[in-house]
Amino acid sequence: MKLFSTFFLSILGLITSPARAWDAVPQRVLEGVYAFVGDTGPRSAANEGMNATTGFVVTGDGVVVIDSGSSKQVAQKIEAAIRQVTPQPIKLVINTGGQDHRWLGNGHFADQNIPIIASAATKADIADRGGMWASGMEKTLGPAFAGTRIQLPTRTFIQRETIALGSETLELIYAGGGHTPGDIIVWLPDKRVAFSGDLVFVDRLLGVLPVSKVKDWLASFDALAALNPQWIVPGHGTPTPLNKARHETRDYLALIYGHMQKAVVAGQNMQEAIRTLEDRAFASLPIYPELRGQNANRVYLEVESE
Ligand SMILES: [Zn+2]
Repeated sequence: MKLFSTFFLSILGLITSPARAWDAVPQRVLEGVYAFVGDTGPRSAANEGMNATTGFVVTGDGVVVIDSGSSKQVAQKIEAAIRQVTPQPIKLVINTGGQDHRWLGNGHFADQNIPIIASAATKADIADRGGMWASGMEKTLGPAFAGTRIQLPTRTFIQRETIALGSETLELIYAGGGHTPGDIIVWLPDKRVAFSGDLVFVDRLLGVLPVSKVKDWLASFDALAALNPQWIVPGHGTPTPLNKARHETRDYLALIYGHMQKAVVAGQNMQEAIRTLEDRAFASLPIYPELRGQNANRVYLEVESE
């Protein structure tokens, strides 16, 4: 009976499970495609700041790391986990966006002269806001942050870049970002798998940042959907088909954005606009209570400034 009621309380979101430790064991998505699926709660020392999903691709002629993790220590664990899967050398690191756990492990790979590629917008974002992310993560991780430094990407592209390695082609697509200014899609056309970085959140409510632009985020999501991926390795949550990603990310963003446009046109102030937002369809997603008001607030400000 106790288990039973705990189960119901937790699906109602009334109790929060303790932070899950970051599991440096990759999940195989398809042949050669792996994901590290992190905690869906907030950053913590227990989850090593890896409350996010990252991954890697084994190409036959080397490994491509997709996001370098939240610290030097995490980057070392990513490398060790890859070693359990393949002896192929790491040939490239991609940063899919500007948020901490996408790039704070860069130094570990740069020290081995492994190139690190990101959109030009992400490089600029890290140059601007990297210090803020790094000091926040240092506070969360304490001594586990030791040795981590701000290492910018060593290569950039503007809109598209094609990486051909071994049997694999990776297309890097910048469609305007959204969650952060430089978010990209890493598209594997042969396998029809997309690593979406923070353009897709599933299994939890997404977070709108002060730097997010929901208008661009919707356009980037549509560019991703147009690829018609078989699987998406999201920025947060477990690998997902497109439909679930569309519901938990796009539908939610479109709902707030559409509501705030009407509210601003009608001359509603922010409080009124947030009070009249009907977003309960997403209330079953973890961290909805913590983020819904802040998200609505930030989207109101974006729409108001347009
Ligand atoms: Zn994120």
